[in-house]
Amino acid sequence: MTEVLSCRSSPGQPCKEGVDPRRMGTCYRCGMKMPAAMSWGRDPDLERGLVAEAAKAAGVADTDALVAFAQRRAGPLQVRNFMARDFDLEIREELADAANYCVWGILQAQEHGRDPQRLANVLGLVAAAYGALHQ
Ligand SMILES: [Zn+2]
Repeated sequence: MTEVLSCRSSPGQPCKEGVDPRRMGTCYRCGMKMPAAMSWGRDPDLERGLVAEAAKAAGVADTDALVAFAQRRAGPLQVRNFMARDFDLEIREELADAANYCVWGILQAQEHGRDPQRLANVLGLVAAAYGALHQ
């Protein structure tokens, strides 16, 4: 169970970490130090291994480009508000965004007279990923 702090600056609201890396581990509203479990120190090698293992199970051999891009996007070596975040929801949001980008990319390709099949294939995989999330 996640400990919920009551914020001194916003009574009735839990303390919440902000996005400023200089204030990592503290509430962005009141400055109170968050419990250690709220932030999680990333382990890039562990993350790389989890991606490789899952990809191998899915029949994908090369994850170098994905891992490199994911590591760049992950930012500082902390995951904010680790214990309280709803990662299923965050994945659903990102997959929905990916579906929108695929649809718009397909329509754009058609407008330019290009073959949209590559993006249609990706859209199918996004739909499969979304379905797998709900199993
Ligand atoms: Zn607070």
